[in-house]
Amino acid sequence: MELECPVCGALIELDEEEIEVGEEIECPECGALLVVVKRGRKMYLKPAEEEEEEEYVEDEDEIDWEEVEEEEEETF
Ligand SMILES: [Zn+2]
Repeated sequence: MELECPVCGALIELDEEEIEVGEEIECPECGALLVVVKRGRKMYLKPAEEEEEEEYVEDEDEIDWEEVEEEEEETF
């Protein structure tokens, strides 16, 4: 089985029965640390560095509520 390195795009040959989900492997081409992940029945690699960064930058948007006055005055 060949899995593509998400960093350099190289195909890394792996033994499907030997690798485990969550296992960290090193790309022989670029040396990036990759984690084996499984989605459905397909396995793929993702960079190990991108591990659940729960840093959400909250932008404090100031919402300007414009008061739209709809006054229809029909005078005859
Ligand atoms: Zn690579």
